[in-house]
Amino acid sequence: MSEPEFLKSTDTFIRRHLGPTDADIREMLALLGHQSLQALSGSIVPGDIQLNRELNVPSHRGERAALQDLQELAAENHVYRSLIGMGYYDCATPGVIQRNILENPGWYTQYTPYQAEIAQGRLEALVNFQTMVADLTGLPLANASLLDEATAAAEAMAMCAAIVRSSGQERQEFFVSQDCHPQTIAVLQTRAEPLGIELHVGRTNAIEFTKEKFAGILLQYPATDGYVGDYRDIVTRAHEAGMLVVVATDLLALSVLRPPGEFGADIAVGSCQRFGVPLGFGGPHAAFLAAKEEYKRQMPGRIVGVSKDRDGHVAYRLSLQTREQHIRREKATSNICTAQVLLAIMAGMYAVYHGPEGVRRIAERVHGLAAILAAGLRRLDFEIGTEVFFDTLRVRTTKAQADQVVLRADEQRINLRRYEDDSLGIALDEMSTEGEVCRLMEMFAGHERLPFTVAELADSAVTPFPANLARTTPYLTHEVFNRYHAEHEMLRYLHRLQSRDLSLTHSMIPLGSCTMKLNATSEMLPVTWPEFSRMHPFAPGEQSKGYQELFRQLEGWLAEITGFSAVSLQPNAGSQGEYSGLMVIRAYHRSLGEFHRDVCLIPVSAHGTNPASAAMVGFTVVPVACDKQGNVDLTDLEAKAVQHRERLAALMLTYPSTHGVFEPAVRRICQIVHTHGGQVYMDGANMNAQVGLCRPGDIGADVCHLNLHKTFCIPHGGGGPGMGPIGVARHLAPFLPGHPVTKLGGAQSIGPVSAAPYGSPSILTISWTYIAMMGRDGLTKATQVAMLNANYMAKRLEKYYPILYTGASGLVAHEFILDLRQFKDSAGIEAMDVAKRLMDYGFHAPTVSFPVAGTLMIEPTESESKAELDRFCDAMILIRAEIQDVIDGRQPRAHNLLKNAPHTAPVVTASTWDRPYSREQAAYPAPWVRDRKFWPHVSRIDEAYGDRHLICTCPPMDQY
Ligand SMILES: *Cc1c(COP(=O)(O)O)cnc(C)c1O
Repeated sequence: MSEPEFLKSTDTFIRRHLGPTDADIREMLALLGHQSLQALSGSIVPGDIQLNRELNVPSHRGERAALQDLQELAAENHVYRSLIGMGYYDCATPGVIQRNILENPGWYTQYTPYQAEIAQGRLEALVNFQTMVADLTGLPLANASLLDEATAAAEAMAMCAAIVRSSGQERQEFFVSQDCHPQTIAVLQTRAEPLGIELHVGRTNAIEFTKEKFAGILLQYPATDGYVGDYRDIVTRAHEAGMLVVVATDLLALSVLRPPGEFGADIAVGSCQRFGVPLGFGGPHAAFLAAKEEYKRQMPGRIVGVSKDRDGHVAYRLSLQTREQHIRREKATSNICTAQVLLAIMAGMYAVYHGPEGVRRIAERVHGLAAILAAGLRRLDFEIGTEVFFDTLRVRTTKAQADQVVLRADEQRINLRRYEDDSLGIALDEMSTEGEVCRLMEMFAGHERLPFTVAELADSAVTPFPANLARTTPYLTHEVFNRYHAEHEMLRYLHRLQSRDLSLTHSMIPLGSCTMKLNATSEMLPVTWPEFSRMHPFAPGEQSKGYQELFRQLEGWLAEITGFSAVSLQPNAGSQGEYSGLMVIRAYHRSLGEFHRDVCLIPVSAHGTNPASAAMVGFTVVPVACDKQGNVDLTDLEAKAVQHRERLAALMLTYPSTHGVFEPAVRRICQIVHTHGGQVYMDGANMNAQVGLCRPGDIGADVCHLNLHKTFCIPHGGGGPGMGPIGVARHLAPFLPGHPVTKLGGAQSIGPVSAAPYGSPSILTISWTYIAMMGRDGLTKATQVAMLNANYMAKRLEKYYPILYTGASGLVAHEFILDLRQFKDSAGIEAMDVAKRLMDYGFHAPTVSFPVAGTLMIEPTESESKAELDRFCDAMILIRAEIQDVIDGRQPRAHNLLKNAPHTAPVVTASTWDRPYSREQAAYPAPWVRDRKFWPHVSRIDEAYGDRHLICTCPPMDQY
């Protein structure tokens, strides 16, 4: 007997994730002339690649059920107090920041701030972050975050090589101090080799300052074992020999120690994790990179710059060099796209919250406790590795002593760092207390009766830093770091900034290629569960069984979804997945003795990260043409493959293509590449059109990355965090990323590509929860509804704007391109004007001018309701009429609703109004806008002004 209807579970997630109701779906299908979702997707996905079976992942679970299951996994994680250090320190996330940023969809569902007029809140927060980094490092120019400390160091290394090269020299060696964190050294090794950079790892007193030897050197300050040294002499000698100096450093330490910029460093890198960002078993956290002004053109990642709007107000936007990195393609030296915006904002707000005195007090307290601990251990006859330290000690112990101390620490649920020589490392942090220091001393003493008290030690132990190492200059002096220390002030500041940014809490963000789908609250809840958020990445394996099981399940599901045999969760963004996948391909060729395979074919429509990633693994990029339908030009592909067959390494293919079409010849494309000895890399950014319907592995790809922050519901966070795991076919599994601290990866691993073994584990809980709640049935339906939504919109809009590409069936896949180029001539209107005008209607623009200049690419995703799709279509149709007014001469070409968009409240309410349209038309162009008006904070931003005057730190308060 089947279960009676009324007893069926009411806990259903699929209908929450999907926008359209079943009735909507029927109506939309009817408009498109299709009987069912299956019939629709069946005519979009080429027959010879359809999966035609259910995915082998568990059936859907309800929200409560999935969270309960995840809670059981979480219970298998045992959170000890980790004093391991190595770049990861526990810290207190201020409650006001946790609740109002980290756990707040108003912040975490924002898109990357390409539409700056409706992103002023997070851009201001990022300028705060850049100012904080610049102040603390003593270097004038900071970017708006990188992925982690190790990859930031690798970016700095590439930067040094590029700077030296641009001065006409060919120095391809780089020195790394062995005092750097082991994962930093290992990531540099991975990165250096394909670039032909010879890495020397050694002691700082063994650097050969021979003229023109190294492009640069990397020092760690304080060193991984706590040592704080005076590097002035090294810097001087390096500069005399024409070398650049990179310093990996710790922002908290720099509030009391002389900053790198003041002892001559050219570049500083590091992690901001301990500025209020939870450990998360390794991430996500924001890394930083700061440099001297003269290197601004070589800076990787995004830099927020200060400009002004048309009305002369301060306005922030991404600076020129950020846009340049995307234009540079294979000439780029970095492939960074998604970074760590949300975490950078948290770290910057931690500085706003504490202010200079607060940060200094935290630093002095940690340092004081470490000094007391050092004094106590010395009294107990232990030798401490270094005289000057900040918060980290290395204690000389015999093997027997170390065994005993580690055992006692384990009983008290404390993790210490154990070095290979059996000495022990202790890194204190913001959470340390006198009681903890006492317990640590007792562990080393072996008993509880210490011959001294902490108070006795405190009197003599804490001495000022030597003058050559002490910080004497002020920092965080800008008013923003000194205004909001009362929580009410802080809360209102956070809300003020949030209200300037359009996010998914306002309206759909139909960003083609970027898949801004629902980030369900149930998916987000586990991120801040302590069992996931407070785990140190190098805690012993017995403590992280829950995480390991989560990784195993998620890897299994992703392997099934992509049709691959193994998955690596290490890459921290799509770009890093591309890099890792190409490295795996390269390693595979080399394992067969084919060292000469270095040509990478990339269709001209590819995303800018593709050629940049290829360049980073030392490949030569050969562009492949696309035909008029937007498909890869098979004749050109074959010709290029034949021409380069001796050297062919890979093809990078986005599928469905960036034109939003499932190319019917995809199998043939893969075959051509394989025939000529190459491997197929699939850019999985468009996986939202494949899940459950077809699989990269079946189509013929050898590797594919997934943007978990697109297809698998990790929110974009305003430009990060993200995750870019890769799936590989069996023959490539031995080459997957490894790690120097945690054993993982294949036998012939390419080495680590991220600082932490599993990238950013705490946000993997989001994708786990999504897949668990949707199950095999829900995942496939989501893909079909994504296609339905896109085709429904295309159908409604095709009468008003040409749709640039469609498949053979006349349908698009999950996204489509509107061609606006004709209006340039007929009305002087460009795609960007339409993008800005959409803001007046309360919408974020679709993707502008990618992959085709002068177009908009719309991807609605499955999560948008029919009502929301209709609202967006209505806006586009009304805008089309506004354009017609210009074409027909009813509105002037230079001074109309589109050219003047967006319209701010001060403009619309000003005493004078001299425009050829009404105020109502400007601000309330459709009836439903009244109900949900979003006011852009600034008018159209003057890009050129900001590019001429690059300012990347907070402007004076009177300019706000
Ligand atoms: C988003 C995207 C990328 C880059 O991914 P990130 O996660 O931002 O590094 C690469 N290719 C395509 C087609 C994309 O849409």
